[in-house]
Amino acid sequence: MQGDPTMKPQIKVLLIEDNPAEATLIQLQLAHAAQHHYQFVPVERISTALQAIGVESFDVILLDLNLPDSNGLSGLARILEAAKDTPVIMLTSDANEQIAAEAVRAGAQDYLYKRNLDTPLLERAIRYAIERLSAQQALIISEQRYALALAGVNDGVWDWDITRGEVYFSPRLSQILGFTAREMKVSQDFRVERLHPDDADNFVETFKAHMNGASPYFEIECRVLNREGGYLWVLCRGLLIRDANDKPVRMAGSMSDISQRKAVEQQLIHEALHDGLTGLPNRSLVLDRVQQAMAVAQRRQGQDFAILFIDLNRFKSINDSLGHSVGNQFLQAVAQRLLKDVRPTDTLARLGGDEFALLVLEYADINTVFQLADRLHRQMEEKFVIGDAELYSGASIGIATYSDKYHSPEEILRDADIAMYRAKRSGRAYEVFDAEMRDLAMRRLKLETELRNAIEHNEFVVFYQPILSTLTGRVVGFEALVRWNHPRAGLVYPQTFIKLAEFTGLVVPLCWWVLEQACKDFSLLHSTIPEMRGISVGVNISGKIFNTGDAADKLAAIVNHTAINPMLLHLEITEHAVMDHQYRALSELEKLRQLGIGLHIDDFGTGFSSLSHLQKFSYDTLKIDSSFVKAMVDSPDNEAIVKSIIAMGHLLGMDIVAEGVETVEQLQWLMKMGCPLVQGFLFSEAVPAAGIAGLVRNCRIESVNS
Ligand code: C2E
Ligand code: CA
Ligand code: CA
Repeated sequence: MQGDPTMKPQIKVLLIEDNPAEATLIQLQLAHAAQHHYQFVPVERISTALQAIGVESFDVILLDLNLPDSNGLSGLARILEAAKDTPVIMLTSDANEQIAAEAVRAGAQDYLYKRNLDTPLLERAIRYAIERLSAQQALIISEQRYALALAGVNDGVWDWDITRGEVYFSPRLSQILGFTAREMKVSQDFRVERLHPDDADNFVETFKAHMNGASPYFEIECRVLNREGGYLWVLCRGLLIRDANDKPVRMAGSMSDISQRKAVEQQLIHEALHDGLTGLPNRSLVLDRVQQAMAVAQRRQGQDFAILFIDLNRFKSINDSLGHSVGNQFLQAVAQRLLKDVRPTDTLARLGGDEFALLVLEYADINTVFQLADRLHRQMEEKFVIGDAELYSGASIGIATYSDKYHSPEEILRDADIAMYRAKRSGRAYEVFDAEMRDLAMRRLKLETELRNAIEHNEFVVFYQPILSTLTGRVVGFEALVRWNHPRAGLVYPQTFIKLAEFTGLVVPLCWWVLEQACKDFSLLHSTIPEMRGISVGVNISGKIFNTGDAADKLAAIVNHTAINPMLLHLEITEHAVMDHQYRALSELEKLRQLGIGLHIDDFGTGFSSLSHLQKFSYDTLKIDSSFVKAMVDSPDNEAIVKSIIAMGHLLGMDIVAEGVETVEQLQWLMKMGCPLVQGFLFSEAVPAAGIAGLVRNCRIESVNS
């Protein structure tokens, strides 16, 4: 339809009519049509009509049934073939229903009797013919498109007649699920039970949303059980059709097999979240899991978690010297070894390079995390064999634990990283990040540096505290106690630094220094002051000095060059240290016995030494821990403990020293119980070496006269 100066839409008509009077009549009838302007191209034969169709296009063709060069429907066929997209209306002189039906079947849009024609009828017929054809064409196009789409995506089709409760499944749909069409028809088996349990809820929700009109169409990706009992990823689409009363009557849609796409997707997801070299989760994935763990921890108390940041110590040199291939194999071996200690609930990830992270969920006790870190550290110390290379790397581990001060997973990982750097610097198996622990660690670090310097700069001094006999009332020996003559802080007591010295291992050189000093002091006193003869000295030692296995030899050397009488020298080892080191120290302690050096058990009662252990080592003396002495007077329990320690000592032929005696009352109790030796502020504090002789002369238990 083209534009027209009268503004009425124009319809171009090819009028094929051999009777000029009838042709004119039709043109006249449409000349005053209300809605359209009709432009006619009148021809009298099929042959001329075909020529016209060849050069121009028409909106409609009016075709007389009987023409000079055609008869009946043959002309229609030729016209339809030439003008496929143009509606054709047949015109005939007589009312022949049969021919009319045939013409329509053959492709004509309508059939008009020339005798009945009037303007409105003609107009309506033409308009309908045009509209019907374009609707038909649209339908054909959409059907073709749909068929193409179906063939293209290989969709299965389903059609659910809700009113009748019947479902149609296309053969392709049955095939997707592995069923024959017949099996499918019989079972009608496409229910929610066929869905993967993880998808069922979502399916039902999505379905309901569409049924309620909340979504324009139904669409979901889900896993469906196929005939073999395996799950298949499918994309399900559908559309609900309602009747005039808005009642759902039918739902139809498609189902496509998307398992391949899903597999690719999943592979891509896997690759995006895993490290290609080791196959471990990567940084993104572990951060995601940390995020989840944070969410859980925020909701529930006691769901704390920890992150271990593990960094290899010598990876760079391995990589540089042996090449990337060995470097890569080494990293794979590291991953495998670390994995051995990882619970299924935890996540071991490679963050990149030689950095790994372990997310530990729901630990019972932070100590189990520390133990794990220790274990992993030891594992990494062990040899790796890659090809014919034997590699040692070692690792540094930083630990950060969850607390509500953290707002993002990155923050926790960062703190674990910081802790890892501290571990690298300190050389310890692991370090823990925690603001408090960090401050403590800072103070410790400072103290540690000072301690190291103190040993070098000779800032330590040894004081001596007398031990008196309750039988004679006189001083029989001394205990050497170290003090730190700090350049700024003045005299610092062991309480401040001995634990740290123990932790860092600095206690070992300190012990040897005190031993040497005490032996020198007493050797000199013994040889110069007559009253000092027979006065013994006890030196506190750490169990750590036995770790190197040459403690006895070293001691023998000190005894030799200081010329101390080994019979007047003894070592004080705490009950805890004895228990911790009993197996390793066994042979060393035997050697000490042979040298004539005595062994005293310090802080007795605080540990759990067995009687058999005491007998095996034949210690000389038990020192009752001052805590019992302090509480003894008020508490019958403590009194009983002290009593039994004294009794046990007697039984095993050991001497007993009660430490920390501060009051006369305590002394009286102890004497009543038959405690042979006492030590404490009641008699004297520890004094410098220069004060020893004075104490030997003057320090007495007044109540004892001998
Ligand atoms: P310890 O071996 O049990 O030493 C006894 C501690 O009790 C000393 O503290 C001593 O001064 C204190 N003391 C003595 N009589 C009394 C008393 O009547 N009342 C109270 N309240 N305290 C009393 P000090 O010198 O501060 O030493 C503390 C600890 O440090 C020692 O406990 C010992 O375990 C360790 N230590 C001291 N010197 C050395 C050393 O040279 N090497 C090693 N490895 N450890 C040492
Ligand atoms: Ca002691
Ligand atoms: Ca003690």
